[in-house]
Amino acid sequence: MEKLLCGVDLGGTKLSVGLISVDGRIHDKLTVYDHVGKNEIMIVDQIIRLIKQLISQNELSESDLRGIGIGFPGHVRYKDGHTLTTSNLKGFKNFPLRQAVAEHFMIPVLLDNDANAQAFCEYKFGAGKGYDTVIFLTISTGIGAGIILNNKLYRGITGTAGEFGHTIVNSDNNQICTCGNEGCLMACACGLALPYLFKKKTEQGIITTLPLPDDFNYSHVDGKMIMKGLEIDDPLSKAIIQECADYIGIAVYNIFQILNPPLIILGGGLTCWGETYLTRIRKKFHELARDMIFDKIEIVEAVAGGDAGLIGAAALLLE
Ligand SMILES: [Zn+2]
Repeated sequence: MEKLLCGVDLGGTKLSVGLISVDGRIHDKLTVYDHVGKNEIMIVDQIIRLIKQLISQNELSESDLRGIGIGFPGHVRYKDGHTLTTSNLKGFKNFPLRQAVAEHFMIPVLLDNDANAQAFCEYKFGAGKGYDTVIFLTISTGIGAGIILNNKLYRGITGTAGEFGHTIVNSDNNQICTCGNEGCLMACACGLALPYLFKKKTEQGIITTLPLPDDFNYSHVDGKMIMKGLEIDDPLSKAIIQECADYIGIAVYNIFQILNPPLIILGGGLTCWGETYLTRIRKKFHELARDMIFDKIEIVEAVAGGDAGLIGAAALLLE
């Protein structure tokens, strides 16, 4: 039997550890949620315990695994396997996560950013299969991305390449990003921006037909609520989707101008807005790119689903 890969998807709400086959199928996995609020040392212990539990419940030994790939929700220094910053977990500032896990195993361990892991999953097994250059953008609460150039993940000098969420798309937008700057793509067009957009459009006089609870405040606005609005043809929800899509269209255009890729894959929670959203993104992109497109460029939805980060983290061992 070909050796299995072990993936770890360390997220802000869930921690999954899985055994993954080399063709990207999940052999077995464990998911916990009680790591939230724990410190780095406790989370490392939890990861090690989960990996050992998976190995033993599948009657395997460590030597049946090719290695362990960890996806982390924040900045990572790829070379030395340190986590640098994260807004999703406590601590992890300049923390040697790769080494802390590797000390307990005899097999290789690697650490990368979670969006890079998802991007690699889409490239290897999903919508990017067959392409040698793929840009992946995940649009959820925040915005992350991964860049695959000529069959290799491009990480930059530190490992933080592809932070398209912090590229500035509207410096007049007075909504502050998590990084402190104004007008980042993330401040304009992801889950974090929705309360602000809802308030702004209400103040502009756009009426909502969504039934709002008595205790409604803007912090309640999320992607699912706007999805419900889209289903009932709510003008305010539709205006928000259009504005978000236009900013993503600008980001896609910027990516196109910098990298000229044949394929841009869009994933993450807000793609639940479906064809209305995707069509508007493509429209904005084509308006900006006009007659500068000389070869086909496709903008498609991700297909790998909720386990892309887990499968991708494992698959990075194949890179
Ligand atoms: Zn930013």
